[in-house]
Amino acid sequence: MTATAAPFSALPDVGAELVVKYDRRAPGYTRYPPVAAWSAELGPTAYRDALAAAAVDQAGTLSVYVHLPFCPHRCLYCGQDVVVTRRRGALEAYLIRLEEEVDLVTDVVGQRRRVTQLHVGGGTPNYLDDGELDRLWRMLDARFDLTATEDTSIEADPRLGAAEQLTRLHALGFRSVSFGIQDLDLRVQQAIGRVQGAGARAGSCGLLRIRAPARSPSAPAGARAV
Ligand code: SF4
Repeated sequence: MTATAAPFSALPDVGAELVVKYDRRAPGYTRYPPVAAWSAELGPTAYRDALAAAAVDQAGTLSVYVHLPFCPHRCLYCGQDVVVTRRRGALEAYLIRLEEEVDLVTDVVGQRRRVTQLHVGGGTPNYLDDGELDRLWRMLDARFDLTATEDTSIEADPRLGAAEQLTRLHALGFRSVSFGIQDLDLRVQQAIGRVQGAGARAGSCGLLRIRAPARSPSAPAGARAV
């Protein structure tokens, strides 16, 4: 496996038209369904019914989202429901509960169902160390069929993790990383309590231009800055 660093200036220019288009207030798009669609009807019964409906066609494919709410510190603008902790034991306890929940879900939808999309979000998923990420992948791989997954993505903080972690994520099967960059202006970064040097951003994005035998031909390595 080799890695080449691309200059940050090589990233595509989004253009003024897109900036104008999206420079407006909108409901949070990082949750699905968006909060504006939540209602009292979307309770445990609706959830159980949705899982039961997904169990009817056992040959059908599934999309799986895993939420890891942990962050080492809180950014001042953050509206997410996060757990800010330095206690690794909290992550361990969460992974135990997560495994129990995956068992509850697969008991209903069926074992080894084929998954075409897997997204791991947070929080800061790459706050997990290698052993914890390995454990997460093994937990999912044992219960779902991930062999034909077309989209395996994970959110990441470019200030954390290094080349080894990105290489590890690639080896596990992740093919897309969303880096939380928020703003390139240092003054804004200071104001929101999330200072990340250009080196961290460029280094992380450049390292994602990793060339390695693809786990799935339809799942190229890639990066999105969000
Ligand atoms: S890293 Fe993301 S989820 Fe965590 S506190 Fe900052 S904005 Fe919120």
